Amino acid sequence: MNLLGRLRSSRAEDRFEAWFTRMHRERVLSGQTEPVGPCPNEAFLRGLARRSKAISLSDPRIDHAANCANCMNRLLLLREQHRSQSRKLAFAFGTAVCLILAVGIFAWSRYSSHRQQMLASASPVPQTVDLWNAGTYRGEQPGQLQSVVLPAARVQLTIILPRFSSPGQYLVAVTRDQSGNGVVAEGLSPASTSNGQERLSVNLDLRNARAGAYFLSTTHEQDQAAYYYPLQIR
Ligand SMILES: [Zn+2]
Repeated sequence: MNLLGRLRSSRAEDRFEAWFTRMHRERVLSGQTEPVGPCPNEAFLRGLARRSKAISLSDPRIDHAANCANCMNRLLLLREQHRSQSRKLAFAFGTAVCLILAVGIFAWSRYSSHRQQMLASASPVPQTVDLWNAGTYRGEQPGQLQSVVLPAARVQLTIILPRFSSPGQYLVAVTRDQSGNGVVAEGLSPASTSNGQERLSVNLDLRNARAGAYFLSTTHEQDQAAYYYPLQIR
């Protein structure tokens, strides 16, 4: 017999067995059978309904239960209870798995965003401010020529000083106003010449600065001349 044939015949057997079981159950429930021995206790019927492996197939109580209307009724009820419990258990298990996954994903995203923040705050953001053309034109305030935007982070700031700036040491500061009050961050840097331009390089910690309007100032150490440029922190 080929596989399909075997499958067909096994399906026919299954159908026959189901039919036979149904017929037998109806006979038992209508009291047409005569059970041998006393009714087994609830624990045994419960085990039978759960198809417990602890119960031997040769146990005479199985024979009794299979032919007793009372036991059969009880068994059908217990089996239904057991099935619905299993479904509930499977549902609870599925829910628990989903919950654990959700918590895991949430924790992981928290951890990775925290880690990114740590990394972001650990390494300074490189920024360049070009003041080369600031203050070139007579009669104009240097501040009106350049509006600088910096992030509220640790900034590795490179400043290209205005044309004709003196070499030497400079104090770079971020202040609240144009008179140098309310210093948010500051740093000293010697000017270095490259391509005929004077450049400063300072680390400014602007992490605690609120977004808003500030001033960026450069003060030459020798002549103490301070220049202020409007600055936006975002
Ligand atoms: Zn019985």
